[in-house]
Amino acid sequence: MKVSGKCPKCQSTNIIRIPDQPKRYMAGNNIYTTSITLLGKIPVIRYVCCNCGYVENWIDHQNELHKIKEHFG
Ligand SMILES: [Zn+2]
Repeated sequence: MKVSGKCPKCQSTNIIRIPDQPKRYMAGNNIYTTSITLLGKIPVIRYVCCNCGYVENWIDHQNELHKIKEHFG
């Protein structure tokens, strides 16, 4: 969806990008590389198909992927 702009389930192009909400620290499905500080919070960007409701999650930045690999890898 992020790359193709098309829903893989229903082929709709009715895709909405939902950015991480900086104020919503405790909810959502962000990934945390530390429980001590919010500095370890990695925002997860969602793409929602407004035709069938399919949702994809993406991490936007390469350096954040590195952080995850260092922490969990
Ligand atoms: Zn769809």
